[in-house]
Amino acid sequence: MTYVITERCIDVKDASCVEVCPVDCIHASEDDRMFYIDPDECIDCGACVDPCPVDAIYAEEDVPPDQQPYIEVNRLYFHDPAAARRRVAQLCPRATAGVGAGHPAAAEAAGSPAIMPEA
Ligand code: SF4
Ligand code: SF4
Repeated sequence: MTYVITERCIDVKDASCVEVCPVDCIHASEDDRMFYIDPDECIDCGACVDPCPVDAIYAEEDVPPDQQPYIEVNRLYFHDPAAARRRVAQLCPRATAGVGAGHPAAAEAAGSPAIMPEA
């Protein structure tokens, strides 16, 4: 068993989970739109679940049906990061990203005009 990060992390990516993971098995690079849990390193402690502001993390057995592809995406990332990124782009194209709504990064990713009157 492992824990799995799902779609709501996309374009939110605040790393709250990373700070609490006792075995440092949650990873992403700057190029990634979400974080991923290494299923071979995760010790199933569940510490990352509550800190996530968008409830993106599930125990593998509890991943909702529409989020099941992310079980494989998390695993794939640690073998072939480029393939995992392509899969995420397929599952959640930037132009139609509806998750993380309200977050500035998500709005920008969804194509909202970047109006910054203070700038
Ligand atoms: S369940 Fe525990 S070990 Fe696994 S990713 Fe979350 S915090 Fe890390
Ligand atoms: S806490 Fe949630 S939104 Fe933040 S990086 Fe982790 S999974 Fe993504």
